Amino acid sequence: MINQGEATIFEKSVPQRRAIRFPATEGLPSSKDGLPAEHRRAASAALPEASELDVVRHYTRLSQLNFSIDTHFYPLGSCTMKYNPKINDQIALGPRFSKLHPLQPDETAQGILEALFRLERALCELCGMDAFTLQPSAGAQGEFVGVLVARAYHQKRGENRTEILIPDSAHGTNPASASLGALTPISVRSNARGRLDLADFKSRLSPKTALVMLTVPNTLGLFEDDILEIAEAAHRAGALLYMDGANFNALAGLVKPGDLGVDMAHLNLHKTFSTPHGGGGPGAGPLGVKKHLEDFLPVPRVVEEAGLYRLRGDFPLSVGRVRAFFGNVGVLVRAYCYLRRHSAKEFRQISESAILHANYLKALLKPAFEAFVDEPCMHECILQTDPKRMNGVRTMDVAKRLLEYGFYAPTVYFPLIVPEAMMLEPTETESKQTLDEFARAMLAIAEEARKTPERVKAAPQSLPVKRLDEVGAARNPDLSWPGRVSSS
Ligand SMILES: *Cc1c(COP(=O)(O)O)cnc(C)c1O
Repeated sequence: MINQGEATIFEKSVPQRRAIRFPATEGLPSSKDGLPAEHRRAASAALPEASELDVVRHYTRLSQLNFSIDTHFYPLGSCTMKYNPKINDQIALGPRFSKLHPLQPDETAQGILEALFRLERALCELCGMDAFTLQPSAGAQGEFVGVLVARAYHQKRGENRTEILIPDSAHGTNPASASLGALTPISVRSNARGRLDLADFKSRLSPKTALVMLTVPNTLGLFEDDILEIAEAAHRAGALLYMDGANFNALAGLVKPGDLGVDMAHLNLHKTFSTPHGGGGPGAGPLGVKKHLEDFLPVPRVVEEAGLYRLRGDFPLSVGRVRAFFGNVGVLVRAYCYLRRHSAKEFRQISESAILHANYLKALLKPAFEAFVDEPCMHECILQTDPKRMNGVRTMDVAKRLLEYGFYAPTVYFPLIVPEAMMLEPTETESKQTLDEFARAMLAIAEEARKTPERVKAAPQSLPVKRLDEVGAARNPDLSWPGRVSSS
């Protein structure tokens, strides 16, 4: 395997080796003439010396050390690692969009302003909302803006509400965004069916509740089937209902959050609407609101006036600007292309396929792994490894062994309320053959756990890196090559 043990480019360095050599310059001033002595190096920089071919091969090999959606099935639950059409990348990277300057006068940037305006309208249509802001750069930032909007709304009504109710199964960004926005997060229990416990929820609602933040489908991949009652109770208590719609690929074309009593919802364009992601970005987490919250949205907003698209900043109740310029425009362009490409009916099919695939995978895997809630799921399913049934083999072992079978691992140990959790999201873009192959690998690992558990516990053996000290890697990253970098 070519990928094994790729040395660093410093180790491959050979003195005096060059990619290109420039001809001697005649008649031009040399750097020695212009640069003051104190700014000149005493010795050459300790850079690797390599040929062009060395460099191309090295970085191509490095790029293959990783798993990616372009090379492997990637069932990372909650992250929606689906295939995104490359054509949308091409359009976004084309000069008409990528060469625009963000400070260009509006009259010279009508194309992008129209695309953003129409994207907002299309998202309103899909979500049953009245207005959207495209500024937030991630789901987490959408949540944060939602918290700011809720605070501004209550303040305007002369109410001092300081609490936000969040289910105990929620994504960690929910309480983090709440704290950043100076609301106190209050955790609400899940019931035995993996849904919000209504009695616990109602007991925590109070005149201090500003916002209820509900994830739909929730992080167990389940529809919150009491949402109408939750919305009604929240509104009766004077609170707003926020829907974390990061995983809208289970709902698009099927359900409009606005019809469920939701006042605000964010979407993750990098999960549902065709932006490849991984390694942390870039993304976009647009926030949609109902009419009564529209005036609080961030500025500037794109408006259409007398046949011209403009950026308008004069919304006195706005929470202000939350992002430089207009957000991650490249992501927004991809989403707009994706939306133009599919009809409402196709969105329905996309969501139905995502749901069907998750339920299919769950049915195949159930003989070996426990389903946390044994009910039909939406776009993802939560399974558990039972170490008692598997000779002490745990979820982490299964995940590591899976890499050796050529599959990226599902999300593990999340949601936090599920012991030995595995969160599988096959997405709508995979074929039945791929799902079958993946299930065969999972069942083979379960069989190994019964017969040769040590093999699973020691995995991976055949990959470039074995088991990492993950906490150490995050807390004490070693990011430089100590051998040759000059310390002066
Ligand atoms: C991914 C996700 C988020 C966070 O989105 P980011 O873009 O990573 O900030 C929030 N909530 C849920 C349910 C998610 O799946």
